[in-house]
Amino acid sequence: MEVKYDAVVIGAGHNGLVAACYLAKAGLKVAVVERRSVPGGAAVTEELWPGYKVSRLSYSYSLFSPKIVEDLKLKESGLEVVESDVELFVPFEDGRYLTIWSDPRKTVKEISNFSVKDAEAYLKFEAYWRKVGSALNDLMLSPPPDLTQLVTLSDAISDPIRAVKQLGSLLDMSKAVRAFASHFDNPREAVEVTRTLMFASVHDFLSEYFETEEVKAAFVPRGLIGTMVGPRTPGSAYVLAHHMMGESTGRASSWGYLKGGMGGLSWALTKRARSLGAQVYLGVEVEEILVSDGKVRGVRLGDGRTFEASVVLSNASPKHTIKLIGRDKVDQDYVRAVDRLKDQGCVLKFNAAISELPDYKALPGKGVGPQHRGITSIGPSEDYAERAFDDAKYGRFSREPVLRVVHHSVHDPTMAPPGKHTISIFALYFPYDLKEGDWDSLRDQAADAVIDALSNFAPNFRGSLLQRDVLTPLDLEREFMLPKGNIFHAEITPDQMFSFRPVIGWSSYRTPINGLYLCGSATHPGGGVTGAPGHNAAFTVLRDLGLTR
Ligand SMILES: Cc1cc2nc3c(=O)[nH]c(=O)nc-3n(C[C@H](O)[C@H](O)[C@H](O)COP(=O)(O)OP(=O)(O)OC[C@H]3O[C@@H](n4cnc5c(N)ncnc54)[C@H](O)[C@@H]3O)c2cc1C
Repeated sequence: MEVKYDAVVIGAGHNGLVAACYLAKAGLKVAVVERRSVPGGAAVTEELWPGYKVSRLSYSYSLFSPKIVEDLKLKESGLEVVESDVELFVPFEDGRYLTIWSDPRKTVKEISNFSVKDAEAYLKFEAYWRKVGSALNDLMLSPPPDLTQLVTLSDAISDPIRAVKQLGSLLDMSKAVRAFASHFDNPREAVEVTRTLMFASVHDFLSEYFETEEVKAAFVPRGLIGTMVGPRTPGSAYVLAHHMMGESTGRASSWGYLKGGMGGLSWALTKRARSLGAQVYLGVEVEEILVSDGKVRGVRLGDGRTFEASVVLSNASPKHTIKLIGRDKVDQDYVRAVDRLKDQGCVLKFNAAISELPDYKALPGKGVGPQHRGITSIGPSEDYAERAFDDAKYGRFSREPVLRVVHHSVHDPTMAPPGKHTISIFALYFPYDLKEGDWDSLRDQAADAVIDALSNFAPNFRGSLLQRDVLTPLDLEREFMLPKGNIFHAEITPDQMFSFRPVIGWSSYRTPINGLYLCGSATHPGGGVTGAPGHNAAFTVLRDLGLTR
């Protein structure tokens, strides 16, 4: 059976859904086709065990664009942010702990127990991220400039039509640079910030502000999240920036939670897309992207149906998208560039139902306390994180992993039966490519490393486990189609960001196939629950169709 749409979106990840909403809002007849039976991709909540609902992959909310929330009226569709007074709780091996509060004054007081100098520096650190975060946010909601247009500008001088087109790109570039630079006191400061974010390591960056190991340890994991970098890897300062620029809770650099877990966002988007007239099909896989004469014609589904469309947006990774077309039907330079994308995943996700909350040695108590209200960061020093990374560098998983622990049922008690809890543990580093063994045989050993690492700080954890859901990088690939288990579809190191994302010359969401666009995390501005790739891809489509300027 053939059905005609104006646009088909492959995948109901949050970005695919955002794109679908904007296209439907502009009056297009849109279908979204998702292979899983629940929407959201990596922003998903599932009831894994009766009464226990789990944010299976992403676990906290900061980066999603407030403009998209507003444009799509997502609060009216059920999106509800749960803020917390605690950002981070970091226990140390000597029994001390550091809490980073949402209120900077409380944090300053807390840090002064470790160092008065660091307490003063914290306010400067905060101010830096307020400024740099808003500068970066100004670059989020438009395609990055295409640098290939810049380097070939002089060739275009003899061709007036091409020159006008390229000058347009140059103007866009100049506008983007100006928007970014306008946040700083002078151009020199803007260039200095750029230099730091592109080339410095998170260790270098934090060392400019803080002297104590404990304070650096609190922030270093934000420079490592989901990425095969260690604290001293150049470029990891950008990974830190990526996780400091969020403003969706209403407070800069702050991370919050969602009622109903991360799937709360995806269901709100699904509801909105449907109310705008889009069809969202769940549990149906796209098996082929139909292409002829260099143009997209539609998609063939696993259930035998064909959806005809002259516009197709793929929320799947670029590698998977090429597979759906057939490698031989795509420009070979593009295929080779996509093949070269760095996308080795290094995350293991451990979700569990627990009978009681972790009783941290550093701040005892099984009742809800500040130690359960933020992200508990297991990684008491930069060297601990560096050693964890060393293991991964040599093809092993970390014997002592870095953990980000969230007690979700504390933020939304409906996520577990009364008196019980859920816990989400994001663990680094568990490289997809192992030197020895394979993930199917090492899953339990890896899970044990996670349990041990948390039990070192909260000895009751092992005994509190009722059920567990362990997702290795291979599981993330098999079940969620994340290439090599990469949580961002492709690394978010500076060499793969902005005009370089996903590949040089194709940062505009378009692809070498006419009418086929990418709208997932491998495009600008990268991974995380931002909604920005979906927003930008939709506007590129609307511009190409002449439906917006
Ligand atoms: C373990 C983990 C923890 C994370 N933690 C956080 C966090 O706390 N906060 C945060 O902001 N970000 C986090 N991230 C990153 C963030 O979740 C992702 O970058 C983002 O959700 C990706 O969104 P997306 O829409 O681009 O792609 P995806 O969510 O990957 O969606 C792509 C969708 O396409 C579907 N699909 C693929 N191929 C086909 C096909 N052939 N037919 C039909 N459907 C198809 C997939 O099933 C999937 O639903 C985390 C990611 C992971 C994996």
